[in-house]
Amino acid sequence: MVRQFFVGGNTKMQVTFNSLNDIIENLNKADLDDKTEKVLAVPSIYLSEAKNRLNPSIAVSAQNVYGKNTGAFTGEIAPTQLKDFDIKWTLTGHSERRHIFKENDDDVAMRTKGALNEQLNVIFCIGEKLEERESGKTKEVVQHQLNSLNKDISKEEWSKIVIAYEPVWAIGTGKVATPEIAQEAHKDIRQWLTTNLGQDAADSVRVIYGGSVSHTNCGDLAKQPDIDGFLVGGASVKPEFVHIINANQ
Ligand code: PGA
Repeated sequence: MVRQFFVGGNTKMQVTFNSLNDIIENLNKADLDDKTEKVLAVPSIYLSEAKNRLNPSIAVSAQNVYGKNTGAFTGEIAPTQLKDFDIKWTLTGHSERRHIFKENDDDVAMRTKGALNEQLNVIFCIGEKLEERESGKTKEVVQHQLNSLNKDISKEEWSKIVIAYEPVWAIGTGKVATPEIAQEAHKDIRQWLTTNLGQDAADSVRVIYGGSVSHTNCGDLAKQPDIDGFLVGGASVKPEFVHIINANQ
């Protein structure tokens, strides 16, 4: 099975109303690979604006979601509220949510499950910290993150998920994983999919790489057999994002 290449932009809290509109304008006039699936994650206050203005070939995504649809959860956004604005994607488990805002593996699973209950598509982010890699725990950490979600969801629900492998030490640091290091981690994730969900899921679930992806390194990363695309932070708010979207051409 050929997995469709996937590129997501994560604008984090790095945009204003005006700069986001410039990014949208730039994307709307660019010549983008129509064989690549494209998603842009924007701060929640701009979801509706982005949805209205962005070329519909680029889906709009939230950057996080809560796992329940109503209740006293100040500051959170419900899956049904995203649906109200026809938003079909969300990130969950981004390393900044895990490490700055202290969401643990179970919290991330609860949020992801809530999104899946409302048929949202999820970019589920996982990855190890530098000290975990240095102490040889990468595989264990990543598998714990995957297992925490797998205990809550069905095999069918994995078809709504794109796994973003983002080593924490590579995010926003300029220290990209080499294609070999990234490929090795992606291959382990693919093996986990085979063991836990079977060959069909391993062949069809996309595993994308994130962490200092740029126009200079995206070509070599894209050539790796188990890298099915990218989640792009810093470069997603720059004109070079177009080049990264077209990395698989
Ligand atoms: P970066 O961020 O590309 O700036 O390293 C990636 C991400 O946080 O998803």
